[in-house]
Amino acid sequence: MENKQLNTITSYAKEHGVPIMKEEGMRFLLAYLKEHPEINKILEVGTAIGYSAIQMAGVRDNIYVDTIEIVEDNVKLARDNIAAYGLSDRIHVYHMDAMEYQTFQYYDFYFIDAAKSQYAHYLEHFLPTSYVGSVFLFDNLNFHGIVDDESKSHNRSTLQMTRKIKKFRDKIQKDPRFETTFYPEIGDGILIAKRILE
Ligand code: SAM
Repeated sequence: MENKQLNTITSYAKEHGVPIMKEEGMRFLLAYLKEHPEINKILEVGTAIGYSAIQMAGVRDNIYVDTIEIVEDNVKLARDNIAAYGLSDRIHVYHMDAMEYQTFQYYDFYFIDAAKSQYAHYLEHFLPTSYVGSVFLFDNLNFHGIVDDESKSHNRSTLQMTRKIKKFRDKIQKDPRFETTFYPEIGDGILIAKRILE
């Protein structure tokens, strides 16, 4: 889904410093959804202004996206953008801290894209809403290359965060509950984890 409206969203994000998924990562994510027609129910953690949710819903008419965003201004913009696409019936934006989201809904696919240092917590929080076969996709697991080369940053809080990302990245790849594939060369480092154990 590439047209004038999406360009408006990406230009807004750029101008206002709203972080949205990089183009290469987005292409990968959309290709994954296209290759897996069994995916219908998606949970996105971190809506920002709706860019990735709109793209995901654009893959097929039977894709439904629940997406969670903590920042009120982002929620408003996301809802406006989603409405402009006529997708308000298939994308629902929840305004809350993702860790407070409770549901009896099961999801086929989880796109985890909120606070990078919280990935391990998000995974445990949302695991009960998944089933054996559900897929989790995490972005930014290289964090601009800093995770594997700390000399690229001198910022203490960035380094604290990238150490947490590294710990999460190493741990999930050894976690017997998941079959994982790490794509370090895609976007900012994408990891797919498929739940394989009850
Ligand atoms: N997925 C979006 C896209 O590609 O268009 C980008 C999401 S942006 C990288 C991360 C978003 O997560 C930010 O808008 C931020 O406000 C939100 N966020 C951070 N912590 C959160 C939390 N605990 N619960 C919900 N949203 C959170």
